[in-house]
Amino acid sequence: MVGKILITPKSYKNYKEDAHRLLKQQGYEIIENNLGRTMTETEIIEAAKEDVVGIIVGVDPLPSQVLSECKALRAISKYGVGMDNIDLKKAEELGIKVQNAVGTNAVSVAEHAIGLMFACSRHLFELVRDVKDFSWNRKIGFELTEKKLGVIGGGQIGREVAKRSVGIGMNVTIYDPYFKDGGFLEEYGIEKQDDLSLVLETSDLVTLHLPANEETKGLINKETLKLMKSTAVLINTSRGELVVESDLYEALVNEEIAFAAQDVYSSEPPKQGDPLIGLPNFLLTPHSGAYTHEAVKRMVMISTQNLVNLLNMKI
Ligand code: NAD
Repeated sequence: MVGKILITPKSYKNYKEDAHRLLKQQGYEIIENNLGRTMTETEIIEAAKEDVVGIIVGVDPLPSQVLSECKALRAISKYGVGMDNIDLKKAEELGIKVQNAVGTNAVSVAEHAIGLMFACSRHLFELVRDVKDFSWNRKIGFELTEKKLGVIGGGQIGREVAKRSVGIGMNVTIYDPYFKDGGFLEEYGIEKQDDLSLVLETSDLVTLHLPANEETKGLINKETLKLMKSTAVLINTSRGELVVESDLYEALVNEEIAFAAQDVYSSEPPKQGDPLIGLPNFLLTPHSGAYTHEAVKRMVMISTQNLVNLLNMKI
């Protein structure tokens, strides 16, 4: 036995056979999270403090203290993309290698974001719910075609959303200070704008596809919400921390913007009685953007292969 591997993501089990075979061939013993939920810091320390050399981690917390307590840990493989749950600085300090599974879920999350756009533009949630109550009510919606979409963050997911939105007939603008791929913009007829305020002021829909970090946390707040059109829709499939939820609540109640739909939240699941959840013009799905057969298969295999590669690296 060359060490133990802790695997935390719940959905990993759906397609684990080939991945487990790969780990066992390498001589690793596997510890699975069988709690049916995200692990706590204490549970991770308990499971990994002795001879766990690698962790395949979902959204479970890996702050400084957890990393320090896991004495044998040499590598972390993120099952997905966003690494805001891992203290990357501490990992580097401790010589723990970290890698994410780039692009494995981009198509799934992009399709989910577009689904949320339609859910808002056509009131799909309310219409279906009313009919199930045998109430035959219509609610006037609006077409996405020819509407202006502001894509904040033009990485793997932002680009998949942008491409598809062009296909729907939307006018797409990307805001991303680090965006470099000019060929992509030309190929799809997409505009790039360097002034975030202008994107927020002019977009009919705004969709967030950027990481949560010190620069981006609270990007959507009282001030930036005020810039948006009163008819605007906000979509967030990235991270709850990007939006100041109390400010979003005020903006939705005061009709400063029309709708918001998210797949992520500051607390997942949200706390009982959270007022934002009860608003009719706010939709939340349970962090399921990447939860498709296709994305899960890719995330399982790529994150496992990444971990094996990290552990086999000489330096
Ligand atoms: P990515 O790294 O490919 O793209 C992120 C983009 O954001 C990059 O192009 C970067 O330049 C840009 N960016 C960084 N700071 C910015 C800023 N201040 N303003 C504008 N743009 C900025 O990542 P991705 O694969 O596209 O994922 C985006 C985010 O989606 C992830 O960070 C993660 O939080 C989230 N995500 C959610 C789910 C889900 O299930 N809902 C699944 C996967 C990823």
